[in-house]
Amino acid sequence: MIFKNAKINAFRTWGLLLTMLGMGLMVLGTAGIVFWGQAGKIFAGIGLVIGLIFMMGSLGVYFWAGMLSTTAVQIQCPECDKLTKMLGKTDRCMFCHTILTLDPSQANVTAEELRSADNHSDSTTTHT
Ligand SMILES: [Zn+2]
Repeated sequence: MIFKNAKINAFRTWGLLLTMLGMGLMVLGTAGIVFWGQAGKIFAGIGLVIGLIFMMGSLGVYFWAGMLSTTAVQIQCPECDKLTKMLGKTDRCMFCHTILTLDPSQANVTAEELRSADNHSDSTTTHT
């Protein structure tokens, strides 16, 4: 789910995971005080510090994703005709997860070929 996704969506997923982890650790750390009293304070301290680091990390990931999305190329997906953003030369469509590329040497099907294939299949279905 994380790996079979558009790069921008993958960044957002990682950012969310980091936030959840950080918050989880902070909650666990605070719970440590309730359950173990004085001894739990050390545990809570460690949990809060690590949690904070995770939160900062997720902030960094979100910021990075935001910066990357401003440089992303907006194109119309030839498969589902929706507007999607691409990072780098090869990325997946945000909506249908089709692998798209700007590099003609990496493409095995061009947009024109895909369109003509679609028209072909449309005509065959109307004929039968
Ligand atoms: Zn698509």
